Amino acid sequence: MITDDKPTNLNTQYRYITYGKQYIDDEDINAVVEVLKSDFLTQGPKVKQFEDGLAEYCGSKYAVVFNSGTSALHGAYFVAGLSKDDEFITSAMTFVATSNAGIYLGAKPVFVDVESDTGNIDVDLIEDKISEKTKLIVPIHYAGHSCDMEKIRNIADRYQLKVVEDACHALGARYTTNGLTFKVGSCQFSDMTVFSFHPVKHITTGEGGAVLTNDYDLYEKLLLFRNHGITKEKRKFNKYHYMFDGDWYYEMQFLGYNYRMTEIQAALGISQLNKLDRFVLKRREIVDIYNSHFKGNVYFDIPLEKGYAFHSYHLYPIRLKDRYKDLKKEIFELLRKNGIGVQVHYIPVYHHPFYESMGYEMGICKDAEDFYQREISLPIYPAMTEEDISYVIDKTYGVFKSL
Ligand SMILES: *Cc1c(COP(=O)(O)O)cnc(C)c1O
Repeated sequence: MITDDKPTNLNTQYRYITYGKQYIDDEDINAVVEVLKSDFLTQGPKVKQFEDGLAEYCGSKYAVVFNSGTSALHGAYFVAGLSKDDEFITSAMTFVATSNAGIYLGAKPVFVDVESDTGNIDVDLIEDKISEKTKLIVPIHYAGHSCDMEKIRNIADRYQLKVVEDACHALGARYTTNGLTFKVGSCQFSDMTVFSFHPVKHITTGEGGAVLTNDYDLYEKLLLFRNHGITKEKRKFNKYHYMFDGDWYYEMQFLGYNYRMTEIQAALGISQLNKLDRFVLKRREIVDIYNSHFKGNVYFDIPLEKGYAFHSYHLYPIRLKDRYKDLKKEIFELLRKNGIGVQVHYIPVYHHPFYESMGYEMGICKDAEDFYQREISLPIYPAMTEEDISYVIDKTYGVFKSL
């Protein structure tokens, strides 16, 4: 029977619960249709409105949206001054985009090992990896759990480095220090924070990303980087001559890109942002149910939330206990066969052939490699029903008991 209240997938006869997906309602659809009927499909008022909404939500001064999280990272690293032969410090437990974006600029990623519980960069190991060439530290808030940002800021200040947070997992997350709580994206302990609006992330624009900052100079440079390095503002011109140059005049001042977001995407983003708190709350409710059933089980460890973090649970990463570590492939395949669309986050970045060809070798981040051997992401997304959640719990236990 087909009912109206649940999306149906005609390709599958059986239940298949993916690890993450978007939630789109009529409000979102209407917002997009409205733009399609308007004068601006790109470079209109919605982009600025979305940027203002993001900055206000996160508690930063400025936001610049991009056409992907990856282009936003590229922009952030560029305006941070990262360039050829520089080094930047990051973690191998991330999506390849985090380090690729620095390689676009000719810089070299230096991977620091992770904490084996959160999967976040191990702050105590950062200082050892800082060299004369280091320009930047890029912590990733793995799965939506904030890194201990004040500690990272202190290290960066000691060596005069910039900090860019890859917060693609962590919109809606918070960080607490000295009794004060900040939203991830407030940039209280970083120069810039980057988000992604890919459909599996907390809110979506189809594809999209953003850089948040409190620094006006970085903000202005990001705007130019997104648009070929072009400025149309008279006060910024270097070569403008009032006798010869008319209102058509604009200047390209450095090599930027076309990384602009469309009005269509921004309208969707504005509408999604209105629902963000509900999305995060729903994710945390799902985690409460998962945790109450999975707590203390003999098969795997469940994600944790340290005192300084308010987790926004982009993922629900479980970590196999020693006895099951070598059975990961079998467990993964059995879960998929049972309709649970698990995924693995992540293959350590330097495992990939491209990174291997750059000279990175296995064993440089032993805890990240161990994390990878244990990690499986169970489904979590706001549209999950109670039935879906129970299904995941039952089938997961079923798979482990069958081993
Ligand atoms: C999703 C993601 C990105 C890239 O974002 P896109 O919008 O897909 O380009 C970068 N870093 C991390 C950690 C991500 O999860």
